[in-house]
Amino acid sequence: MSARATLTITPVAELGPSGRYVLLDCPHGTTRVVSANAERGVQLEEADLIRAALARHFGEERCGCIAKLWPQYFAGYGLGEIPLAVGAP
Ligand SMILES: [Zn+2]
Repeated sequence: MSARATLTITPVAELGPSGRYVLLDCPHGTTRVVSANAERGVQLEEADLIRAALARHFGEERCGCIAKLWPQYFAGYGLGEIPLAVGAP
């Protein structure tokens, strides 16, 4: 049985209402994403931050510990596959 990553999302009040600290941890490595939306900037959702953490973790660790989490945030795609232009001609 392979190891599983743990995902923890913590609000960061000092960064405002959208402030988030995403911690993705497994025996191979730890990936951290800290983010807050600027008032007139791109408004990222919590799931976007998790996708960023998953993609970075996969890029850095190349392990399968996030295999269960991946399809929850990249529905319909296999581990390491990121849809960038679905449906584009
Ligand atoms: Zn791992």
